Amino acid sequence: MAILSFADLVNECTKQNKSIYEIAQEQESILLEDTIDVVRLRVLEDLLAMKEAVKNGLHSTEKSISGWCGDDCVKLPQRFNKKGALFGKTFEKIITYALATAEENLRMGRIAACPTAGSCGIVPSVIIAVSEEEKILEAEQINGLLTAGFIGLLISNKVQLAGAVAGCQAECGVASAMAAGALCQMLGGNTSQIIQASSLALKNILGLTCDPVCGLVEVPCIKRNPFLAVHAVTAAELALCGVESKIPMDEIVDTLKITGQLMSPLLKETSLGGLAKTKTAQELEKKLFNKKV
Ligand code: SF4
Repeated sequence: MAILSFADLVNECTKQNKSIYEIAQEQESILLEDTIDVVRLRVLEDLLAMKEAVKNGLHSTEKSISGWCGDDCVKLPQRFNKKGALFGKTFEKIITYALATAEENLRMGRIAACPTAGSCGIVPSVIIAVSEEEKILEAEQINGLLTAGFIGLLISNKVQLAGAVAGCQAECGVASAMAAGALCQMLGGNTSQIIQASSLALKNILGLTCDPVCGLVEVPCIKRNPFLAVHAVTAAELALCGVESKIPMDEIVDTLKITGQLMSPLLKETSLGGLAKTKTAQELEKKLFNKKV
């Protein structure tokens, strides 16, 4: 049976008595005409690429071509090593890894777009940080990533995951929904809780605009990654406690699409509105391109 919606996914999980990641790896195996072992190996490669991006990003202070960004991640351990963050080690790691990955992206380093390059720090930071702190096995991390991927796939069946089409809600917002589902899976959540986690994350980020300064994936994109990673954790924790979204996931995805359609083109990656048109953004643009704005 073709799985085109979250309702279909729940039906299929129930019918086959399988988890979302099991359905995901089966579907991928059919698509690739290869075994489930090969599918899982490919997902492992993605996971390792994510870990490599975090490792590289943690130490680099190389700035982007604009010179605006690239040296924020290294500031975090300087404080955390002296005085831990208010919410503990996992929180420290999540926001640090999210920044590390997003800064690697601006340096044109190797990252795994998840679902896009601008939102590349959200899913990896949550999976890697929580796995390190909770001693979650690699196989479980793969299950988490498969879950995240299938959630992203189902959303992308209805909405193109691009800021130019539906704003940042379709990039960082969807990444947060994917991360929430992955985390819920890794922490032992059932199918319903996983979808609830994604629903809560996505529902509470609807309307986020795409307004990159000078059209570069730097401001506000980079710092959105740690914020939306923590947002994912909130959603997963609520779902694991039994909190449910009153609006079902499929209707939230429909709303994401409609909200994207209603959004002014000025707020969809054109850099003609929002933060991109602030006084400071215009001054930055003038300096960068040495032109009158
Ligand atoms: S603001 Fe726009 S370019 Fe930046 S991450 Fe969000 S969707 Fe992508």
